[in-house]
Amino acid sequence: MANPLAGLPAVHRLLAEEHLRQARERYGAATVRAAVREVLAEARRRVAQGEPTPASPALVAEARALLARRESAAYPGVLNATGVLIHTNLGRAPRLPADVSGYLALEYDLDAGARGERLAPVVGRLTRYFGAEAATVVTNNAAALVLLLAAHAPGREVIVSRGELIEIGGSFRLPEIMAAAGARLVEVGCTNRTRTEDYARAVGGDTAGILVVHRSNFHLQGFVATPELRDLVELAHARGVPLWVDEGSGCHLDLSRYGLRREPTVQEILALGADAVLFSGDKLLAGPQAGVMLGNRTTIAPLRRHPLRRALRPDKSALVTLAITLDAYLADRPETVPLYRLLALPESELRTRARRLARGLNAAGVPAEVVATRAVLGGGTTPDQTLPSWGIALAGGDATAARLRRATPPVIGRVEEGRVMLDLRAVPPEHDRHLRRALLEALRS
Ligand SMILES: *Cc1c(COP(=O)(O)O)cnc(C)c1O
Repeated sequence: MANPLAGLPAVHRLLAEEHLRQARERYGAATVRAAVREVLAEARRRVAQGEPTPASPALVAEARALLARRESAAYPGVLNATGVLIHTNLGRAPRLPADVSGYLALEYDLDAGARGERLAPVVGRLTRYFGAEAATVVTNNAAALVLLLAAHAPGREVIVSRGELIEIGGSFRLPEIMAAAGARLVEVGCTNRTRTEDYARAVGGDTAGILVVHRSNFHLQGFVATPELRDLVELAHARGVPLWVDEGSGCHLDLSRYGLRREPTVQEILALGADAVLFSGDKLLAGPQAGVMLGNRTTIAPLRRHPLRRALRPDKSALVTLAITLDAYLADRPETVPLYRLLALPESELRTRARRLARGLNAAGVPAEVVATRAVLGGGTTPDQTLPSWGIALAGGDATAARLRRATPPVIGRVEEGRVMLDLRAVPPEHDRHLRRALLEALRS
């Protein structure tokens, strides 16, 4: 019997087919050749397993489908119907739009016509809004912690409570970050209880600082004790060591306005005398990915001169977005920032929208039920709290959810007890018509 693999066409034969000649114009010759090779390799594998040898037109169609799939948006915009407002896999907080596609006076002083200070506009806004003496910005909060420790604690001891040795999303584990930055971790207290005296006993000649880490993504309950920050600041300063706070979530306003529990804000932590406060730009600040570092000059100034600083420099789009986001807060208009606009949506409006959506779907023959839901802030903030919300429930579990993810735009919901729940809290009202269209496209027929 003839070798069935011999029936497969050669690469150059396929490339000569009319459809693939056209594809070369669009995708480039090297990309099309690579796709053809991939398709042929896959065909050889199938043939070797005993499947029939595919004909050239089928292989051409496969190559074109592969090319079309690859060309689709690298990071497609989606409708977030998960009810999680700061969704790490969906880009954390939605942010204000900023156009940085052209040239901009990024580090250019228009008055002097000379080189300017790249971070100055953002630093000025940060110090004014937070009431900090000094500020700087790096790529994210993990980088902020590395820079702080590399600058102030190389080879020296940093005291942390055992109740705060956290992991955030897999790749951020506090002990590992500290080791990478060259600091020596000194653990004090217990998982559930740490007292000021525990810190007091640990401070010694080699102590570079005390680090307090916000338990942003979990909640300790029961037989627990955590010292007041005020007492720790007092202890640290009495013993001549700095106190740093990895606040993480960047809480900067009274969350009780939105029906959540009030939490200590970054401004309050600074006012208590913390030497540095670090947090993410894309959690409760609802801006770009960034690591914001605030504090006194003694702590912040050396950071700006540290060699690592250059490696951790934020992108211009992050700086521009951070500046306009801070402008909204400085003008006391938080609800112009997308996250706070969503948080401020009244429950009654969410219910009305859910009803309208369900009615539209039912009228088109797609069964949908209005449901009261609980949304969460997410992103490792306010871990034990929920927000009232409304949404719709659709029949079907994982298979329906998968169909919704393939819609245009993709709709991301959550599967609960064999139904797909779509929560409207994180869907901007003007996207309801896109949501409706995407659902009909995915579910009708
Ligand atoms: C989120 C968080 C981090 C990590 O911040 P990134 O900006 O994602 O690097 C670190 N510490 C705390 C306490 C956090 O909440």
